[in-house]
Amino acid sequence: MIDSSLITLNERSVKKNISFLKSKFGDKVKISAVVKANAYGHGIEQIVPVFEKHGIDHFSVFYYSEAVRVYNCLSKPRSIMVMGWLCDENIRDAIEKGIEFFVFNIERLNTAIKFAIELNLKAKIHLETETGMNRSGLDFKELDCVIDIIKKKNSYIEIAGFCTHLAGAESISNYFRIQKQLQKYNEMFANFEANDLSPTYKHVANSAAAFVYPEARMDLVRVGIMLYGFWSSTEVFIQYTNNQNNKIDPLKRILGWKSQIMAIKEVKSGEFIGYGISYLAQTNITTAIVPVGYSLGYSRSLSNKGRVLIRGHRCSVIGVVNMNMIIIDITNVKNVEVCDEVVLIGKQGKLEIKVSAFSDLSDELNYEILAHLSEGITRNVIKK
Ligand SMILES: *Cc1c(COP(=O)(O)O)cnc(C)c1O
Repeated sequence: MIDSSLITLNERSVKKNISFLKSKFGDKVKISAVVKANAYGHGIEQIVPVFEKHGIDHFSVFYYSEAVRVYNCLSKPRSIMVMGWLCDENIRDAIEKGIEFFVFNIERLNTAIKFAIELNLKAKIHLETETGMNRSGLDFKELDCVIDIIKKKNSYIEIAGFCTHLAGAESISNYFRIQKQLQKYNEMFANFEANDLSPTYKHVANSAAAFVYPEARMDLVRVGIMLYGFWSSTEVFIQYTNNQNNKIDPLKRILGWKSQIMAIKEVKSGEFIGYGISYLAQTNITTAIVPVGYSLGYSRSLSNKGRVLIRGHRCSVIGVVNMNMIIIDITNVKNVEVCDEVVLIGKQGKLEIKVSAFSDLSDELNYEILAHLSEGITRNVIKK
């Protein structure tokens, strides 16, 4: 291995996840693959072509810069939807490239129309409505205003979507709030339709909502975490398996992360290891240095808590996680050598380090851990 660590992406798992999700949602529901945060750490340039190869033709991102990266790595033009940030200049470029974007205020709609007229093209927009999350979105009054504007300028606007975002579908404690949101969405949509307007897609669901509230699937689901092989929460997983005879998890994790041993050292009983006094050797121990630290996304909160796999054994991180290194206790593992493989996430022999174990230890969401994996780590797609 040339680099200090390597992320592997398993293509077979991608294929399985997509076919499982398609079988659940049926032919009438389009899957938009959410690839924000560098495709949940998997790498936009590496994973988007694999998603495309296995039948995904709709992509969602947060930043315009991500949309352009997706645009540049697709084999042909496909739907790309920006759910969040673009500056005014980006709006112009988006209209030229046919990239779609959310409209959640009047300013953005007016800017879009201004550029669409200049370019003599249609701006492809998704009207995001405010239904109870109180984050971004058009309220009733703003929607009325938007409807008036669209009717006047309809030759410059294509209504690609009418959407909202649900505030926490992965937890049953939000059940009533979600019901109220769905109801408000339907009321707002009725108002929209009554004006003889109709979008290409009605969409409100992320992964959790697509499973927990089937009525929320509508025409399109915005699926992130589950495409990558993770359930949004344990609750969603249990709700799914409760209704299945076979309790095997149908989702397959795609990502693995491994490194290698850089150096091995013997440390005498009574010595502190690493920075400060966070770890005191209680006996003579053998340590291995691994060249991965928080700068690559190995969280500092895994100090004295993390586990890695070496020669088929689970070994502990000792002391604090450094910017570029971690120290591992290998006292009880035989025949360890410099350059031996160290698995940080994924399988080695019969054992596995899961992102979920990682997040239990560090009190981070699996979303967070994935999103923090540095873009500088090399990512290789494994076809097997
Ligand atoms: C991130 C995001 C999603 C995807 O959420 P998952 O839980 O990863 O499926 C869907 N919709 C919006 C608006 C998002 O920001």
